[in-house]
Amino acid sequence: MTTRSIALLRVVHQSPGVTRADAARLLGVGTGAATELVTKLSRAALLVQGPAAPSGSRGRPTTVLLPHPRGPLALAVAITHEAWRVEAVELGGRSAAALSGRHAGTTWPEVRDAVRGALQELRLRYAHRPRAVGVSVPGTVSRTHRLEAVGVGWHDVDLTELWPDAEVFTAGNDATLAATAESRRGAAAGASMALHLRIEAGLGGAVVEDGRTVIGARGAAGEFGHMPFGDPAVRCPCGARGCWGVAVDGHALARLLGEPLPADPITYARRVITAAAARSEPTAGAVPELAAVRTVAATLGRGIAGLVNALDADLVTLGGLGADLLATVPEEITTAYRDGLMSIHRAAPPPIVPAALGDHGPIAGAAEQAWSALLPRLA
Ligand SMILES: [Zn+2]
Repeated sequence: MTTRSIALLRVVHQSPGVTRADAARLLGVGTGAATELVTKLSRAALLVQGPAAPSGSRGRPTTVLLPHPRGPLALAVAITHEAWRVEAVELGGRSAAALSGRHAGTTWPEVRDAVRGALQELRLRYAHRPRAVGVSVPGTVSRTHRLEAVGVGWHDVDLTELWPDAEVFTAGNDATLAATAESRRGAAAGASMALHLRIEAGLGGAVVEDGRTVIGARGAAGEFGHMPFGDPAVRCPCGARGCWGVAVDGHALARLLGEPLPADPITYARRVITAAAARSEPTAGAVPELAAVRTVAATLGRGIAGLVNALDADLVTLGGLGADLLATVPEEITTAYRDGLMSIHRAAPPPIVPAALGDHGPIAGAAEQAWSALLPRLA
């Protein structure tokens, strides 16, 4: 398989349904060469040609390029604090099948066995088609695929146990992978320096520069939640004081409301934000939920300003509870954000927008990471 074949597969992966003519233009090859490449990739069961949807305009009929119905699949896995999901993902990002389950404070061996069973089921169902696996986890992942997930108490876990003899194995942090997905197929497509922030139990994220996600020397970059934008009186589970993550999550809301720290801070925060949303009409008086949500939102906006100043980001996407906060109290976030921006950014503040992929971001990113590693091997 030539470099050009791989480049064509990459184009179809990014834009399934691209016309053959547009794909040729993107590759910088002539019509004849494109037809030849497409024929070769069709014979290799990687692509099929389909009729283009009628455009209404006159002209020669064109064909579109689609993933082959018997082509390779990447198995994408997302493990969260309370659930797991496995999807079989085609070239182009469409999910052909999904299996999922819940776990509650479970030990790693139990979660591992459940996910391994789901992967085996999909490998049986699709025979030779699954060629790669990508895993999203709520923790930091080393370059040798070892996981530290303090929130769920999993230490030095070997993620390759999920599919030990996989041809292609990739894994990453959920917020980092959500950032990757957001830049490939979401709200950050086309940004040159995109900052993605995701609030769940704490705050994570990543910087994507020209489509490349910055993961750091050990794969642990993007731990923005542990920058000291929070209250110096509050100690974070990481050991430091004043962390930003514990000033914008469910625990922060509980502290502001004088309630005990919730066992499930994500569900708790959603409930408080929903209660605040119901009372955010201008006529409503001050209610504790709304005041707490506004405080957290201002802390979020101020920290985003600091990161935009430091990174010169041109777009900020917010996922998880960050998107809920942006929908509920946008003024508190943007006021604190603009106040914290250097004057060089004030004339045209980089937009803060909700992540387009929502809760699907981490698994979509896991699929993207696996496909990126698999594409060059489709020889
Ligand atoms: Zn911390």
